[in-house]
Amino acid sequence: MTVATATYQNYIGGEWVDSSDGGTFEVKDPANGELLAVFPESTKEDVDRAVKAARAAFDKWRLMPAPHRGEILFKAAEIMIERKEDLAREMTREMGKVLAETRGDVQEAIDMLYYMGGEGRRLFGEVVPSELPDKMALSTRLPVGVVGAITPWNFPIAIPSWKLAPALICGNTVVFKPAEDTPILSLRLVEILLEAGLPKGVVNMVFGHGPTGAAIVEHPDVDLVTFTGSTDTGKKITKGAAEDLKRVSLELGGKNVIIVHEDADLDLAVEGIVWSAFGTSGQRCTAASRVVIHEKVYDEVARRVVEAAEQMKLGHGLEDDTDLGPVINQRQLDKIASFREIGEADGATLLTGGERATDGDLADGFFYKPTVWGDVNPKARIAQEEIFGPVTALIKVGSFEEAIAVANDTSYGLSSSIFTKDVNLAFKAMRDLYTGITYINAGTTGAEIQLPFGGTKGTGNGHRDAGTAALDVYTEWKALYIDFSGKIQKAQIDELKFDA
Ligand code: NAP
Repeated sequence: MTVATATYQNYIGGEWVDSSDGGTFEVKDPANGELLAVFPESTKEDVDRAVKAARAAFDKWRLMPAPHRGEILFKAAEIMIERKEDLAREMTREMGKVLAETRGDVQEAIDMLYYMGGEGRRLFGEVVPSELPDKMALSTRLPVGVVGAITPWNFPIAIPSWKLAPALICGNTVVFKPAEDTPILSLRLVEILLEAGLPKGVVNMVFGHGPTGAAIVEHPDVDLVTFTGSTDTGKKITKGAAEDLKRVSLELGGKNVIIVHEDADLDLAVEGIVWSAFGTSGQRCTAASRVVIHEKVYDEVARRVVEAAEQMKLGHGLEDDTDLGPVINQRQLDKIASFREIGEADGATLLTGGERATDGDLADGFFYKPTVWGDVNPKARIAQEEIFGPVTALIKVGSFEEAIAVANDTSYGLSSSIFTKDVNLAFKAMRDLYTGITYINAGTTGAEIQLPFGGTKGTGNGHRDAGTAALDVYTEWKALYIDFSGKIQKAQIDELKFDA
């Protein structure tokens, strides 16, 4: 079902169609500016048609037994395994991260399709004792209805799979808008689902920018909006969805932290910091943009992190020896660059980086040098705001307690980690770090799909992607009482008498 040319269309009600006003936008390789594809810029009218198609398909899809819905997800996972390498290469061209990471992105989607496919034979409810005789009490899950899924560009196939796989297994139909920077890989996911047997109208895809997303959020016949992206957009979505009391699930930004205690294995810690701070050029929601280091090992850790950052090779992600690809676009490059002045104004010390990389071919892409700030005040903007680039802030502390306090002192709460050999401190950190994810003796990235993914505070609104927690986003609970006593029994009122 792959569309043969590099000009793509929306997918609505089982048909490939242009946008209603013929508008389009271009997708380019961020490493060299090469034009990759042209996509439709969808209008409100396109969104309306997509929502109507999703509504029309809903009853048939929700009534398909969940194990059969699961078989479609299993089949999709198998197709994706066969195409993993091609998908990874295409993703590297579309959004820049290196091949090892784009392979991981595809693998995450495969894992999620298998995991949620298996849920087709579980989707557990509860059976509990009734307080009345000859009566049964149980709970089951209902699909929510039409789901609007809006995703970011940094995990172009993994994050869409986190939304679509649970939505579909639970019996919902979907209107999906991927990020404008990475529509190709999101389209590939939908193509694969169609190839695996997904019926017409169950997933509808509209491409476009923010206003297309807003039209989904504000459409009165969308029941649930599932969104991953920035905290600012998350707030707009919450407001836009409020009018109709839509369900909203938000996975937003982060200002993640690694704590290095004085007893840490520094080899491990430095490797963890470098991978978490600079992998995907720092454009992960779980990127370690703060490192809180005990004063006894601060100088040593700072020296080694700077050394590692300076050895990283920037280049096209398809080249074998590239450590760091480009950032996604000019807007993001400008934003990252603007934090140079901000860091200096905050009195931090620039230890390395802090500028664009423009040697040779790098000048054609959006490359930024891995950047390390030292002696950062925990209240400084570079220690508080999400930069979303290869930039990390080193903060010196005098004790474990101070480290925890500094770590928790942000408006976000996604991922945290601690390097220590002290088992008691590790357990205290697990208890006291107020984030949705905490790692012990590992960096801040590397979540697995069978556990809940998301964060506290400004990172979201209490929902979680992945794991069985995701099922609570995509279903409504229904309680069922079955009375086989032949009487009208009254809970909380009838007095039961038992013969001795
Ligand atoms: P973004 O600018 O918020 O965009 C996310 C998606 O929302 C895109 O599809 C975007 O369309 C769309 N959008 C923009 N304005 C909208 C509006 N008013 N109404 C509805 N939709 C709208 O975020 P991003 O730059 O793509 O992604 C980076 C952010 O995502 C970071 O903050 C990162 O931390 C966060 N993130 C969080 C997680 C997590 O699970 N917590 C995971 C990954 C990323 P366009 O593409 O056209 O702008």
